[in-house]
Amino acid sequence: MIQNINHLTTPCFIFDEAEFERGITGFRDALKSYFNKSKIGYSVKTNSLPYALQQAHRYGCKAEVVSHDEYRLARLCGYEPQDIIYNGPMKSRETFIEAVTCGAIVNIETKRELQWLSQLSEGRVYNIGLRLNINISHISPEDADGDDDNSRFGFSDESGEFAEAIDYINSSLKLRLAGLHIHRTAHSRSPRFYERSVESAAKVIEKYGLKLDYLDVGGGYFGIFPNKPTFSDYAEAFYKSLHLYGLEQLEIIVEPGNALTASGFKFLSEVIDVKRVNSKTRFITTDGSRNDIDPFFKKTDYLKEILISDNNRPIEPLQIVTGCTCLEYDRLFTLKDSPRLEVGDQILYNNVGAYTMTLSPQFIRLWPRVYTIDLHGNYHLIRRESRAADIMNLNI
Ligand SMILES: *Cc1c(COP(=O)(O)O)cnc(C)c1O
Repeated sequence: MIQNINHLTTPCFIFDEAEFERGITGFRDALKSYFNKSKIGYSVKTNSLPYALQQAHRYGCKAEVVSHDEYRLARLCGYEPQDIIYNGPMKSRETFIEAVTCGAIVNIETKRELQWLSQLSEGRVYNIGLRLNINISHISPEDADGDDDNSRFGFSDESGEFAEAIDYINSSLKLRLAGLHIHRTAHSRSPRFYERSVESAAKVIEKYGLKLDYLDVGGGYFGIFPNKPTFSDYAEAFYKSLHLYGLEQLEIIVEPGNALTASGFKFLSEVIDVKRVNSKTRFITTDGSRNDIDPFFKKTDYLKEILISDNNRPIEPLQIVTGCTCLEYDRLFTLKDSPRLEVGDQILYNNVGAYTMTLSPQFIRLWPRVYTIDLHGNYHLIRRESRAADIMNLNI
């Protein structure tokens, strides 16, 4: 147990459990006020830290997985097949059959999965789901990226492949279509987009007279940020469209990633060197990297706090804070006319839990350690850093 952030070994991520739980509880309460039945599927690809998966399970979430590796990881973290929502094209036949047989929610994405269904043993009925293709330009032009914002996921009603899949499922006595999946993320993340995407699914349900158990509306929500749509706004949007078609009794499944993980993780780095290259420019080298918190190399600034021990440092005109790799462009942010940074100072980055740890390459410096912060503000190590020996363990 470590009581002070200054005593953590950097670089490290810090998992804020209270914040993580606040997101899950917030979304759950919002759904409960509109729907009799709902599920939250924690999007594993957004942050697959085993401790976070285990906590999400404790708080009653399902694991939303999009590959056989994620499926296996969720199983190792304590999720039973019936606690798993299995999506995406990268299922293996073995995990697919196990998931369908043991009662996972399985949303079919590819034609090979339809073929695999014939291998299910006879004598009972299996529930399966189907992903519906969504073109944002067709359903909500204001939220679309151009006039043909199509998707490579799901079966398309426009092309007839959705109808073919339905026919295939209906032709087998052992199969029952139990739900539709419509994950699509609009840049706006607006409730209006969800109202319309749910309405487009409701139209398809009506068109084919489908008798379903659930509608899985996927992810793509804002988290708990000021002045942004709330979980309640999204739940209301789903409800409005389903109610219009008399479908409000369907179980609603959401698959938030970003909304639950972004604010639940911080990253702490330390200044390891300071250089002056001309009369005004100082480079501040830290043991963090853009690879840790900006794996797409797109961010220009962060929700950061600079932890300096004393308050009477001279002011420096230009300080460029850089990472620890050998990439010239591993530069995180620039400080103008601010107190001089020195070796040993720490930089804390907030809101860095989504699509960071799962996308970090093993480049130059391997994965950092992870601490959790408990409700009393104490820190505990929950994952050590990865090391050269871990890589050698894979070597044959
Ligand atoms: C990525 C993904 C999510 C999570 O998306 P966020 O934008 O992080 O909320 C949910 N469902 C599916 C199928 C996904 O591929």
